[in-house]
Amino acid sequence: MKCPVCKIDSLGSITLVEDLPANHCANCGGVWISSNAYIAWRKAKGEDLPQKQAGSNIDPNWNVNELKLCPESGHIMARYKVLPDTEFYLDRCGHCNGIWFDKNEWDALVERNLHDNVNEFFTRPWQDNLHMAETRNHLEKFYLEKLGAEDYERIQRVREWLEDHPKRGMLTAFLQADDPYAI
Ligand SMILES: [Zn+2]
Ligand SMILES: [Zn+2]
Repeated sequence: MKCPVCKIDSLGSITLVEDLPANHCANCGGVWISSNAYIAWRKAKGEDLPQKQAGSNIDPNWNVNELKLCPESGHIMARYKVLPDTEFYLDRCGHCNGIWFDKNEWDALVERNLHDNVNEFFTRPWQDNLHMAETRNHLEKFYLEKLGAEDYERIQRVREWLEDHPKRGMLTAFLQADDPYAI
């Protein structure tokens, strides 16, 4: 089997974790998991471990950014972002659904308990949530920059207070009126 990064016949069989067979490139350290192997392992494993904070950061240099060919079917693989605001992409073959992990990427997922969520990364809900989180982070930064930490914190508290307030309409009208004591 050809490594999608090294483009030589360098993929050898390994057991990635218990009951999960995979292929490993000794040259670049990448890992290939076929779809059936992953699904079978995921099914046998059962529970979905909750995501956790990792001790080490994801290094954007782990990504091999060039287009890769699927070692099983030869198709060009698609890249999927995994986490918001993080340069971490996985390559997946849309033909056979196999997944390529550049060096360190599988371990980074294990460290975060995300290795049992790999199939979700390629779904619409995961990608939508990722984009929503990126937009939220972007706007958060924007408000903080434009308003300053003190005013931003204060207006957030006001918003929270108004959120489920039974007299919200009257309170916001009072706030927005040029002079609430004139008709
Ligand atoms: Zn390789
Ligand atoms: Zn394929």
